[in-house]
Amino acid sequence: MLTLNLSHPVCLQHQGLEGHPERPERLLAIKQMLDHPYFADLVREEAPMGRREDVLRAHPQEHLEFIESFHPEDLIEQVDADTYMNAYSLDAAMIAVGAATRAVDAVLLREFDNAFCSVRPPGHHAEANRAMGFCLFNSVAIAANYARDVYGADRVAVVDFDVHHGNGTQNIFWSDPDMFYGSSHQMPLFPGSGGLNETGEGNIFNAPLRAGDGSEQFREAYEARILPALDAFEPDILLISAGFDAHQNDPLGSLELKEEDFAWVTLKLMEIADRHADNRVISMLEGGYDLAGLASSTGVHLQALMRGTGEGDVPNYQDL
Ligand SMILES: [Zn+2]
Repeated sequence: MLTLNLSHPVCLQHQGLEGHPERPERLLAIKQMLDHPYFADLVREEAPMGRREDVLRAHPQEHLEFIESFHPEDLIEQVDADTYMNAYSLDAAMIAVGAATRAVDAVLLREFDNAFCSVRPPGHHAEANRAMGFCLFNSVAIAANYARDVYGADRVAVVDFDVHHGNGTQNIFWSDPDMFYGSSHQMPLFPGSGGLNETGEGNIFNAPLRAGDGSEQFREAYEARILPALDAFEPDILLISAGFDAHQNDPLGSLELKEEDFAWVTLKLMEIADRHADNRVISMLEGGYDLAGLASSTGVHLQALMRGTGEGDVPNYQDL
């Protein structure tokens, strides 16, 4: 597989108060991993600035203008209780949007087989009209709508294995049966949504897990619920909300996943993309707050995307 990695230095300048878990070091840890010669074949590109018209594919004008109305200069302003902006945050959020649409271009024009966007802020908690949970714009939902609007994709799927439910993506897709949202997440946990009974137009598939659940329950949730529904949906393109905070060492979640679980789920999703979507997969970074767990989980995720295997010598983060 030919895999594209999109990122941008401004994503390192989006920064909150000391101690905020969604911090620049997350991307540095991922970069350290992906700079290892093991990933020499990964093609790197600087993500372009996103377009306002593309933000509007998933958000109303009022939301875009609300986010643009913050002028924090060098200070930090709170958009909500845990969502901040500094002088670089609007640019970073627009770069995340630009990465998402560039990834769609790259994969749908067949320049690349798949793509991974290592950008921040994350996006899956951003609802159509509400920034929350560290998220300003919902980049993955923007990518989905962009794929439909610009390339005529009839059915677009987002699968989200972040430990938190992607309430924003669910909100944006809720009444849209041509968009699929499948999520595994810990419950109860922020943001509180993600129950089995939240099904939209029959296009939303939530698989809540309990604190302490690990590989077995995670894989069962995919085998029994998300993968069969995704297979039946027959997506034209598959997007992944790749949060790595379900890792056993993550400070924000209480699931017990190991690196090999992220490799496993990536490969299962690629099988379905192979069957229906001509292998077209785009992965967007969401959460993941233990730096070593984040970097090593991203390593196995990329190994799967690039080489189609869970076997190999992904470098140990401690040795980088
Ligand atoms: Zn998360």
